[in-house]
Amino acid sequence: MSDTRIDIDGLIGRLRTCLPDTGETFKLHEPRFAQAEHNYVMDCLETNWVSYGGDYVKKFEAELARRCGVAHAIAVSSGTVALQLCVMLAGVRPGDEVLLPSFTFVATANAVVHAGGIPHFIDIDEATLGLDPDRLTRHLEEIARPGRGGLENRLTGRRIAALMPVHIFGHPVAMDPLLAIARRHGLAVIEDAAEAIGSTYKGRPCGSLAPLAGLSFNGNKVVTTGGGGAVLTSDDAIAARLRHLTTTAKLPHAWRFMHDEVGYNFRMPNINAALGLGQMQALDAALAAKRRLWQAYRAAFQGCNGVRVFGETAEACSNHWLVALVLDTHSDGELDAVLEAVNAAGIGARPAWTPMHLLPMFATSPRMDLAVTERLARQVMNVPSSPFLAAAS
Ligand SMILES: *Cc1c(COP(=O)(O)O)cnc(C)c1O
Repeated sequence: MSDTRIDIDGLIGRLRTCLPDTGETFKLHEPRFAQAEHNYVMDCLETNWVSYGGDYVKKFEAELARRCGVAHAIAVSSGTVALQLCVMLAGVRPGDEVLLPSFTFVATANAVVHAGGIPHFIDIDEATLGLDPDRLTRHLEEIARPGRGGLENRLTGRRIAALMPVHIFGHPVAMDPLLAIARRHGLAVIEDAAEAIGSTYKGRPCGSLAPLAGLSFNGNKVVTTGGGGAVLTSDDAIAARLRHLTTTAKLPHAWRFMHDEVGYNFRMPNINAALGLGQMQALDAALAAKRRLWQAYRAAFQGCNGVRVFGETAEACSNHWLVALVLDTHSDGELDAVLEAVNAAGIGARPAWTPMHLLPMFATSPRMDLAVTERLARQVMNVPSSPFLAAAS
């Protein structure tokens, strides 16, 4: 397994120069809680408002909307259901195809299926790790044609209804070219901003770049509520519809239980939102620390043979959720040898996710040639990225 051309000891040495000299082992991404989170959660316990009533959900939603530059944030129980709701509200009907990267966390593709759609996998651009607009254009020219209900996949006969870009590891995708493609073909756009709170594209916040976006507040994300997510939109009617659907489609009434359709219980409990509100108040400090940590990695690997630290494009500002090294590795075995040694040295590292089209449940999903995805899956390694690992400014 040690047939790699990477100098593994050298790599570990460089990683160590970026991390605190405490002898502890480093996880990939861990939360930290301040006094605010303790106070807000205690307030929930002391007032008994731990569940679906109480003020923290409203306060957290207001803070999210303000921060992400949208009119409405609807807090829900996970990022996965946030994306499922986005797909449903974008007008994707059962049996429609949704274009998305294969290089993503499984939740993106799962959400499409939960909403009745069929994932259709598109390759990525090495410069952003997100959907490649040029290759998407050529793929659509090859396989799609205008149909009765919109764009149609000539190979499957199904409607292609939506495009779902993902900001991988917090790095904004080339959104403007993707929006132009969607406009040209009449596709709805859903932004998977689960990893990208605080990131900006041409100065605009991720989460505000498409009519519908999903965030995640899982424990390993930049902002956590324990578990949770949010849908972001600036459309008043869609926001009202989301609130209705996620609260069992209950009609407002002081005591009567009247529901006008089969709704969902996707709400975020108050106690989780209390955690989230405190986390939002620490977001700017966390982003600054994560940027310093990324810069330390960049400096440490300057001029290093066979290893580079993934960086930003000129139009993007990443939240650097997970710092990614791109290695000059050419097989899974080679990457595994590096991962094994780095983890054995107490430095939490992992590969990018197994590409979606290589998972059994998506093996027969429609897709284009995914050469860049498959190559990068053998080359990308995430390294410890918690904000508190950064040296003080
Ligand atoms: C974390 C994440 C999600 C949502 O995950 P949950 O665990 O359900 O909150 C969706 N998409 C991507 C790309 C993610 O990283």
